[in-house]
Amino acid sequence: MPRQRITILGATGSIGQSTLDVIARHSDRYEIFALTAHQRVDALAALCRQHHPRYAVVSSSDHALKLQALLSADRLATEVLCGEEALVAVASDAGVDTVMAAIVGAAGLLPTLAAVNAGKRVLLANKEALVMSGALFMQAVNNSGATLLPIDSEHNAIFQCLPGNFRCGSTTVNVERILLTASGGPFRNWTHEAMQAATPEQAVKHPKWSMGRKISVDSASLMNKGLELIEACWLFGMTPERVQVVVHPESIIHSLVQYVDGSTMAQLGNPDMRTPIALGLAWPERIPAGVPPLDLFTTGGLHFEAPDEVRFPCLRLAREAMQAGGCVPAMLNAANEVAVAAFLDGKLRFTDIPVLIERTLTELPMMAALELSTILAADRSAREQAIRLLPALGRGC
Ligand code: NAD
Ligand code: MG
Repeated sequence: MPRQRITILGATGSIGQSTLDVIARHSDRYEIFALTAHQRVDALAALCRQHHPRYAVVSSSDHALKLQALLSADRLATEVLCGEEALVAVASDAGVDTVMAAIVGAAGLLPTLAAVNAGKRVLLANKEALVMSGALFMQAVNNSGATLLPIDSEHNAIFQCLPGNFRCGSTTVNVERILLTASGGPFRNWTHEAMQAATPEQAVKHPKWSMGRKISVDSASLMNKGLELIEACWLFGMTPERVQVVVHPESIIHSLVQYVDGSTMAQLGNPDMRTPIALGLAWPERIPAGVPPLDLFTTGGLHFEAPDEVRFPCLRLAREAMQAGGCVPAMLNAANEVAVAAFLDGKLRFTDIPVLIERTLTELPMMAALELSTILAADRSAREQAIRLLPALGRGC
């Protein structure tokens, strides 16, 4: 069997690294076509030495020159490219079979859509791309015949609990609702007052998962679960009312599907992203992922509680954005990206993240999301508005 040729968008990130770890265990099945990174030239050069991709992409021409110098010194044949057009090119090239979409945030939208439009097998970690462009994204999946496989652990779990012939973008049959589990993040038991003084270091210290900084802050604010609720609606054809968020601090059950006959199916495993990544790479087969098997005797008790939307308003904001429809989810995502960056920069209190998002959304007109240009315009205006509102909330430290 010929090896699957793979592009990893966001190869230097947490998901990118886990993907390369799984691929390295199966060099008979997979080869790397392209690796991309934003600015971490040294890290990308190290990955090129190890995996010999045909292309390596970075964001700016300055970074491309530095990377080229490093690769030439090692006499590597990898071709260095830069910018968004290059990301789109390596995501849609005829020489690629599978694209791992693991860029963080809106920056991943265009290359991920390009992979979908080119009919690739798309492993979707970059949930922000789907949140921004939901209807358009799923339409593109259906039109191009792309195979969309969810990598987010919850959605991957749901996919595994659905019948074997289910494809993302088609309708589920006999499903009553979806139960989306959430760890609750590092501030699950914190008071509002304590969260007001939370530092970036405390926010990124997730109790169960090791992830990039942006998604870690989203997990702490429960915006991650809000984005995932929107993601679940698009992937599985659900309304927000049919997706229930369940806080499950042990992060052993990754999500559940309830059927009309009273059956509830769950997927369990150790919290390690290599499991969903391996499933995405090999589906419909399964391959070893390097993840130790679950030992229920050491796992101990499993606990469940309802999310507190008063202390964590981001979940409500995301549900309302999905209910409002149009470009509102894209605007929610953009305002959240501005808020999280400001928080990580020490310019916004943790508890003001939802305040900034809500103000941004209230002050902007709602637009229908029919075209990509409208979505990109909504993203831009929400960013500008959130940046304008920032000084009024920011603590300027
Ligand atoms: P990360 O911050 O560790 O890595 C992000 C990657 O994107 C890096 O390779 C970086 O170079 C690249 N990147 C960042 N900004 C860019 C830009 N402007 N242009 C081009 N490339 C850019 O993030 P991560 O934790 O690996 O998460 C990646 C995506 O996967 C996110 O959308 C996240 O929500 C999703 N996800 C992550 C996890 C996890 O366990 N880490 C789980 C589920 C979903
Ligand atoms: Mg998740």
